Amino acid sequence: MSQPGIPASGGAPTGLQAQNGTPSASGSPYTNGPVQNARISSQVSMSQGYNSQLPGSYPHLIPAKTLNPVSGQSNYGGSQGSEQTLSRPPVASNLVTSSIYSGPVPQMPLPASQNPVAATMPSGSFLPGANLPPPLNWQYNYPPTVSQTNHCPPATSQLTVSGNTNLTTNHQYVSSGDISLQNSFIKSGITSNTNNGSMVVHNSYDEIEGGGFLATPQLTNKNPKMSRSVGYSYPSLPPGYQNITPPSATGMPPSSLNYPSGPQAFTQTPLGANHLTTSMSGLSLHPEGLRVINLLQERNMLPSTPVQPPVPNLHEDIQKLNCNPELFRCTLTNIPQTQALLNKAKLPLGLLLHPFKDLLQLPVVTSSTIVRCRSCRTYINPFVSFLDQRRWKCNLCYRVNDVPEEFMYNPLTRVYGEPHRRPEVQNATIEFMAPSEYMLRPPQPPVYLFVFDVSHNAVETGYLNSVCQSLLDNLDLLPGNTRTKIGFITFDSTIHFYSLQEGLSQPQMLIVSDIEDVFIPMPENLLVNLNESKELVQDLLKTLPQMFTKTLETQSALGPALQAAFKLMSPTGGRMSVFQTQLPTLGVGTLKPREEPNQRSSAKEIHLTPSTDFYKKLALDCSGQQVAVDLFLLSGQYSDLASLGCISRYSAGSVYYYPSYHHQHNPVQVQKLQKELQRYLTRKIGFEAVMRIRCTKGLSIHTFHGNFFVRSTDLLSLPNVNPDAGYAVQMSVEESLTDTQLVSFQSALLYTSSKGERRIRVHTLCLPVVSTLNEVFLGADVQAISGLLANMAVDRSVTSSLSDARDALVNAVIDSLSAYRSSVLSNQQPGLMVPFSLRLFPLFVLALLKQKSFQTGTNARLDERIFAMCQVKNQPLVYLMLTTHPNLYRVDDLSDEGALNINDRTIPQPPILQLSVEKLSRDGAFLMDAGSVLMLWVGKNCAQNFLSQVLGVQNYASIPQTMTDLPELDTPESARTIAFISWLREQRPFFPILYVIRDESPMKANFLQNMVEDRTESALSYYEFLLHIQQQVNK
Ligand SMILES: [Zn+2]
Repeated sequence: MSQPGIPASGGAPTGLQAQNGTPSASGSPYTNGPVQNARISSQVSMSQGYNSQLPGSYPHLIPAKTLNPVSGQSNYGGSQGSEQTLSRPPVASNLVTSSIYSGPVPQMPLPASQNPVAATMPSGSFLPGANLPPPLNWQYNYPPTVSQTNHCPPATSQLTVSGNTNLTTNHQYVSSGDISLQNSFIKSGITSNTNNGSMVVHNSYDEIEGGGFLATPQLTNKNPKMSRSVGYSYPSLPPGYQNITPPSATGMPPSSLNYPSGPQAFTQTPLGANHLTTSMSGLSLHPEGLRVINLLQERNMLPSTPVQPPVPNLHEDIQKLNCNPELFRCTLTNIPQTQALLNKAKLPLGLLLHPFKDLLQLPVVTSSTIVRCRSCRTYINPFVSFLDQRRWKCNLCYRVNDVPEEFMYNPLTRVYGEPHRRPEVQNATIEFMAPSEYMLRPPQPPVYLFVFDVSHNAVETGYLNSVCQSLLDNLDLLPGNTRTKIGFITFDSTIHFYSLQEGLSQPQMLIVSDIEDVFIPMPENLLVNLNESKELVQDLLKTLPQMFTKTLETQSALGPALQAAFKLMSPTGGRMSVFQTQLPTLGVGTLKPREEPNQRSSAKEIHLTPSTDFYKKLALDCSGQQVAVDLFLLSGQYSDLASLGCISRYSAGSVYYYPSYHHQHNPVQVQKLQKELQRYLTRKIGFEAVMRIRCTKGLSIHTFHGNFFVRSTDLLSLPNVNPDAGYAVQMSVEESLTDTQLVSFQSALLYTSSKGERRIRVHTLCLPVVSTLNEVFLGADVQAISGLLANMAVDRSVTSSLSDARDALVNAVIDSLSAYRSSVLSNQQPGLMVPFSLRLFPLFVLALLKQKSFQTGTNARLDERIFAMCQVKNQPLVYLMLTTHPNLYRVDDLSDEGALNINDRTIPQPPILQLSVEKLSRDGAFLMDAGSVLMLWVGKNCAQNFLSQVLGVQNYASIPQTMTDLPELDTPESARTIAFISWLREQRPFFPILYVIRDESPMKANFLQNMVEDRTESALSYYEFLLHIQQQVNK
């Protein structure tokens, strides 16, 4: 097979005939053997080839077939051994190999050849786990040059190749010209940077979102004409934010503007020491917060209502403007002044973010001026200070900036001279409509490509029915506009494309059997405008589930199918949804089974790392072309999620896993998939996104957790962003914050909405700085700490081993509580003394040790463990905590006392119970909310009332063995229980299955496994764990 020719520019068809190959001696130019099925009418005869339609013929291609839903068959089997001597035809230049990298897409700042680091870095060197010493604990202080007594080397995330001592502090962004590690990944295929010379003003998002000042767009007021005389108010000004150009009144030069002073006093809430509540005495904590607790005596510290994040100790005027902790949270709400102080506390410093969360209220600003610091590019926010009406001081780098003219007008109050009352300065969470300076290219249409496994195994599961039906149901709800594009690829041992060109009477199937060198037939008709081709799309979705029902093809060419999908999407970017049901067995990306069931229980030598870097490399290619890949794995057997998952992880996609999916044997999974698809297909989506997190000078971000690719030092590349994804970062204190009272953190997410608008969502969090160890402990956010530790433990499991990760988790508790005991407590009392803020720390860490990601001594399947780890990395904190430490409620005696009332619904709020069998009783029914699953355990002597009024059964024995739904009965008990369960489900974007569990149910073991406080075969009880911690702490 000869090499493909250099693509003809513009895909001009002239001269292409000459390149058409001649069939080899084996006969047909098509490798697929006999093409014609009596029941499939071929639209194009073999002799005609595709010349009439396409720029060239496709020797590996079966002619377009009209799908015949009645036939139930399509002939796509490849004949073996046909010698292919044909040269491949050129296709449109934007679709093939080298030209993939020269499209109008963001270029990496430096060609790899100019970057010594990138040039010498072996392509696989970003694999996690290379040559790391097995550490036993985490180092929180950073960089590692700081001497420390902690007994652990630094934890490095594989996501931060650049996350090492080369990191600049957060306010010194590496501009595109700097030599740094930022391009380390380039060589692996994101770009060859053969820039075609076209002049683009900005060639990377790093520059757009805010590298150094010089590299950033000039965003000062572009409307110099806006000069006007000044009065107290301008009633004639237009409302709204739409590119306000205040009416020019007198033509006075701007310099002569004099804004009113005197009566219009400057009233911004001053920020600073005087507005912090004074030291310890005025802590805004509940007095309870100052308690020291002996955990060995007070064993039940779990509150009966959901654990709330601590409120930062700030003046209420500041705190009321602060970012919602659901969006942005710090592990320490009192930031230690120095790294030395942080080191002493032995607590991790980091942020947990849920930046694209669905919000009921979000201020959106359209303004020609987005006010940002000229030095560090921070967006103006509630925590800047106004020196006067014309100047504001950045709260991250302290540079004094001018207030642009336009900003002097407040469209909300319609008053001039109140820049501090602008919505940008009143809202810690805000969204800007971004002008064209924030684009590398015009917003692309929303593009959705679906890639379906249609091998025998896939067909057996029956998943295509569910998925196609969900798509049909939600086709009109896909986020988008009139430009929305959609396409479909199916694959088994070959790859099948579907032409959905407007005007066709039926979809046409095109089969490519050369999986070694995949190419795209008819690129222009495979991703089509959804509106224009809706009927064809619907036809296809109705037909697909039947088309492969009789297939005997067991092979899976997933890798080549992904390559094809990538090529198809490269020009625009978009979202690729891949459905896979087994190990890929053909072509690139082939994987082998490597799970050894008898090693499941041991904590060592399990395969947590990818067995090939193919999926990671392809994900990086996808990321470079703004394609995110979401993986739906529906498989009863081992499918090497450790390798497959990389395709989503590095392309900012998501992984969904439905073990043992089967349309008949596992109806619960079917329901779950349907519900989750509905959310998936209709939820908000952002395209071509980047996210940057900035923090006050002196603090530095060094390790990132989540699904993305670190494009430059600290710019996260997110080809897609979805409202259900969480992120975490670790930080260190690089310079002393002695002169600082407050620090701020700001995340900026730049994305293209499904309507084609460029938008920037900004969250800003403000926290106080403290100088004593006690204050650091008092401000600890135990959930955020546990969440960050879980992320770090996943990295540690991969780079070192599971047992090291477990040890590190335990040591995190021991080290911090030892520090508290030795440095804060004045008199050494017996027992295990903890600050109130950390009273749940040992419990949550124990829960992590028993969580699927990190547990030992069970027969957790490897893919399930890997999936749990993916979830740790990608879930927002609130769901991670539910998965780790479920909420347990007694529900057989629900009452309306203390119930919530939402839209005329009464939702009972039963107290949360400790996770121990001690809390269960045989005469009750208990609901465990473990995030993705709800388990309702019914005791043997449960009151008859509950059985009949809620479960709708006569007696205990008649509870079905498998019961996953509660009947809607006309009883108050039923209404309350269903209201409560529905309410729990509404709180989350995924669909938790409900299992009703009798004493003899096999599911009972799962229920008991979540009883974190109890002893299991291989894990300590909570009390034993406390004793262990106490022993170590008191050493
Ligand atoms: Zn600044």
